[in-house]
Amino acid sequence: MALAGGIGGARFLRGLRLAAPDAEITVIGNTGDDISLFGLRVCPDLDTVMYTLGGGINEEQGWGRADETFTVKEELAAYGVGPGWFTLGDRDFATHIVRTQMLAAGYPLSAVTEALCDRWKPGVRLIPMTDDQVETHVVIDDPDKGRRAVHFQEWWVRLRASVPAQSIVPVGADDAKPAPGVLDAIRDADVVLFPPSNPVVSIGTILSVPGIRDAVAARTVVGVSPIIGGAPVRGMADACLTAIGVETSAAAVAAHYGPDLLNGWLVDEADAGVEVPGIAVRSRPLLMTDERAAAAIAEAALDLARELDKDAA
Ligand code: GDP
Ligand code: CA
Repeated sequence: MALAGGIGGARFLRGLRLAAPDAEITVIGNTGDDISLFGLRVCPDLDTVMYTLGGGINEEQGWGRADETFTVKEELAAYGVGPGWFTLGDRDFATHIVRTQMLAAGYPLSAVTEALCDRWKPGVRLIPMTDDQVETHVVIDDPDKGRRAVHFQEWWVRLRASVPAQSIVPVGADDAKPAPGVLDAIRDADVVLFPPSNPVVSIGTILSVPGIRDAVAARTVVGVSPIIGGAPVRGMADACLTAIGVETSAAAVAAHYGPDLLNGWLVDEADAGVEVPGIAVRSRPLLMTDERAAAAIAEAALDLARELDKDAA
């Protein structure tokens, strides 16, 4: 089983599915990035996983639908209705309409996600980390409005993380419960994998739901570094790490997870020789240039997990 954010998680999972075609793969998705826009509930990370594994993703972009058009967004803008900085395409809108309709009818997000996956058939069981609302907020010193908390998406997408984050808070996490099936899936798993997802606002947010961190810590856990040669492969994860006082390096991220949680860590060849006390580190190419490359990384993660298996020890 694996925890997953958006792009890094989804591409790794596509490789994992190829590397372990007979495995039952459960994925716990991050919902801290979720946001309500135009009256619709949008779950960017769940959708990125669902579209990527279901063959509907915009490959170049890494998020959103392939063959997308933007008529609804243009029509909304013509009414002066924003935000204009968050792009939703016409095909994507349908997903959010279905989701919002089901939520309004009383279905929990986990049931809604299952229903959406009936169409996409991602080949994994995708469960949101919680059915409760958790929203990642970022405290910034706004040049115009002073210190304030903004939704993660406003900081990430509108501000491109260019304003330093004073803190990053998963609002609502303390009172959230893991979604049905989450703790069982972790307990029953042969191995728990951390894809190269954002350690703070993807993996960190999932782990902030009470019960999940302890359940994960009891398993054999192998992670893949999203940081290569001191920088994120894509995106601005460095801005998130800086906000929580962690250096942007493969070693610092592993040390941040810590040996109580993480048993094995794959780093890129560029970081060969890196050592983290209490954690078994292996180096290999970590660029997910295509599905085959991602599968080879997943295979290496599974190999390391077998080597470190807590139950076998
Ligand atoms: P998000 O929710 O879309 O930001 O996606 P995730 O949290 O799942 O993953 C974001 C992380 O994936 C970033 O920090 C990137 O550095 C990392 N990433 C993206 N592509 C690759 C890759 O090919 N190899 C590795 N090792 N990391 C990657
Ligand atoms: Ca995300």
